[in-house]
Amino acid sequence: MSILSPGRSASPAPAPGARPGAAAGATREPNRTVRRLPRPRASRLRTGDLLALPWFVTLVTVGLWVRHGGVTALLSGGTDTLLSIGQISGLIAALAAMGGLILSSRPRFLERRYGQDQLIAAHRWFGIVTVFTVVLHAVADTWAWGAATGGTIVTGLVDLLANEAWMVAALVGTVLMVVIGLSSWRRLRQLMPYETWYFVHLTGYLAVLLGFGHQLTLGADIATDTLALWWWWALAIVTVLVVTYSRLGDLLRSLTRRFYVTAVSREANGIGSVHVSGPGLARLRVAGGQFFNIRALTGDLWWQAHPYSVSAAPTTAGLRFTVKELGEDSTRMLQLKPGTRLLLEGPYGVFTSEQAHGAPVVLVAGGVGIAPIRALLEDCGPHQTPVVIVRVHDEFDLAHKIELERLVASRNGSLHVLTGPRQWFTRTDPFSAQTLRAWIPDVASRHVFMCGPASLESAVMKGMRKAGVPTAHIHSERFGV
Ligand SMILES: Cc1cc2nc3c(=O)[nH]c(=O)nc-3n(C[C@H](O)[C@H](O)[C@H](O)COP(=O)(O)OP(=O)(O)OC[C@H]3O[C@@H](n4cnc5c(N)ncnc54)[C@H](O)[C@@H]3O)c2cc1C
Repeated sequence: MSILSPGRSASPAPAPGARPGAAAGATREPNRTVRRLPRPRASRLRTGDLLALPWFVTLVTVGLWVRHGGVTALLSGGTDTLLSIGQISGLIAALAAMGGLILSSRPRFLERRYGQDQLIAAHRWFGIVTVFTVVLHAVADTWAWGAATGGTIVTGLVDLLANEAWMVAALVGTVLMVVIGLSSWRRLRQLMPYETWYFVHLTGYLAVLLGFGHQLTLGADIATDTLALWWWWALAIVTVLVVTYSRLGDLLRSLTRRFYVTAVSREANGIGSVHVSGPGLARLRVAGGQFFNIRALTGDLWWQAHPYSVSAAPTTAGLRFTVKELGEDSTRMLQLKPGTRLLLEGPYGVFTSEQAHGAPVVLVAGGVGIAPIRALLEDCGPHQTPVVIVRVHDEFDLAHKIELERLVASRNGSLHVLTGPRQWFTRTDPFSAQTLRAWIPDVASRHVFMCGPASLESAVMKGMRKAGVPTAHIHSERFGV
């Protein structure tokens, strides 16, 4: 192991009061009856096949608009143009909203192929399209309605709200969409607690539901065409089924699998491990690097789930989660008593060794990012000669040090620990292409897995790309939303 800390090179000492890996050893001691849990089955979904579906749905829907004279109206000018813009933007908004709901419900077939990160990234784009098109739709249609009745956009709005069914609901839905969009804007999102953002976001279901009624009664492309009406109902029903099955399915599975806390151990400064076991293990398929949404059934924690990655290869003896005391709930997680029931939703994620297809790897962790990296390392073979780089503030922040040393040694790998304040590294960037090539001569032919703060992620990404690692070979797990 090399310790790189400009200015000093002391050997790491155990954290005061810490029992590094004490309980880890207790639950993970090799034992003839302990077996590795099976891994999740590989996804056979191909991106090309998958994309065909949204394209088909979009083409049929736009086709309905064209069939009902949408293009002709668009080119006619005046109120017809406004109405046509209102119609097409309304249809696109509804499709994007349904797609966004499906993506955020993380259907298994999609999650197993793309992982939560990519689904949430795609959901964000669907959300942006929804908010912009729903506002365009509301403005264009209300303006056209006002003009058609000889008034203004304001009189059009009043008339619609007073006389047309479902219009009040549609207005409330639109306002909710805008509020959700604003709350997800990064600058505002950072200002509010996670829970506030989450519950505002949950109203998205209500917003979509509130908008549905006026699509059936007023939507020019749907209300007057039986074929279109059937098409629209079919899309809505499929969306409800996929979302309900995915959301409730995950919850019901977690309710029927019994898991309990077996021990909690201290690993480093502000970091501990929760050891979990129970009959539910028998039905699990999980890979190192995956995570679960964990809900502890205690008076103060039962109402929300937090994501935590397994930090050791999952076995029939149990699972281990390594948790940093970041806020109130993570601190409470490390105070759980043995015997506390846990609901585990998952596993989720594609941050697994399968992504490397057996190629040599570089594993980079920052702080508690060591959790999935440690589990991934255990899933690597000796032919992958893992180079592990861990960035921590000081040696007392390094969790699972002894395990890391043992694992890299048994896999012909090496461990590099970078300690010290950030400014120490400004002169010699440890992730510059030059340094990386000097450390790891074959870096360009390796797969890179990284988990840590955004600043570390972007430094590693930049350096690795410059060092010749193809972007598709760089895999990351983000701990934020
Ligand atoms: C895929 C994934 C895997 C993770 N694995 C680990 C791990 O192995 N070890 C570890 O210590 N931490 C992990 N985290 C981070 C961990 O979930 C948060 O630190 C924890 O939820 C903080 O909760 P809190 O109430 O203590 O802190 P708060 O102060 O309430 O939240 C701090 C930050 O944590 C994030 N967060 C809070 N609650 C959630 C939630 N329910 N879902 C998503 N993000 C949330 C938000 O970005 C928030 O700003 C992971 C996060 C993700 C997304």
